[in-house]
Amino acid sequence: MTRIIQHFVPHFEERHQKVQALILHCSAHTPEEMLKVLDEKKLSAHYIIGENGEIWQTVSEKNKAWHAGISHWREIDGLNDYSIGIELSSPAMGQKEYTKKQIDSAVGLCRTIISHYQIPACNVVGHSDIAPTRRPDPGKAFPWQYFASKGIGLWYDINDAEKISINEVEELLRIIGYDTTNLNAAAYAFCRHFVADSVAENSDIEQLMTEIYPKDFEFPHVYLPVLKACAYRYRR
Ligand SMILES: [Zn+2]
Repeated sequence: MTRIIQHFVPHFEERHQKVQALILHCSAHTPEEMLKVLDEKKLSAHYIIGENGEIWQTVSEKNKAWHAGISHWREIDGLNDYSIGIELSSPAMGQKEYTKKQIDSAVGLCRTIISHYQIPACNVVGHSDIAPTRRPDPGKAFPWQYFASKGIGLWYDINDAEKISINEVEELLRIIGYDTTNLNAAAYAFCRHFVADSVAENSDIEQLMTEIYPKDFEFPHVYLPVLKACAYRYRR
């Protein structure tokens, strides 16, 4: 595996929960810039991966890094205490293809972490999945399907759609793990993750970071089979 550069930062707390989730992020900065920005905002992640595939470790896995913020996934509220967080450097905020070197490094690191903590596949998700009203990362270009093929996270088989009789969008999103308090935001986060082509690219990164989902967004009915197939896969 890629050599890991250790560069510990002071923004963390003692962990009180067992690690049971892996959260993927991206940021439109180089790793060096990210260290500065995270420091200013008093944030952190356990790892940062640069575009050349270099891995920086900034918080010990034993500790709770400050990467998730207010968040929910399945039974868990406030993911920081329960998770490992990985930041990928991405100038286009995850809207343009990640580099191969970076993806290779991320796959290796994720696999090591998942097998070490026996993290369930349903708990390997993105920041946008756990904070749908607040965060757009790791973006529509994050290769979730490829990651799932490497044993990282879950993907769907469209043939499973007919095996689930529920047709209600909100209930299906909740089965997967989304907080549906803001249904449109949750549905948009789902689309970003599972039907990325349906999500428009936004080259204005500042706007992307503030307008997380179109306020008038409604789940496109044409993707209901995808949603059902996912719910089938994520069902407890
Ligand atoms: Zn993030």
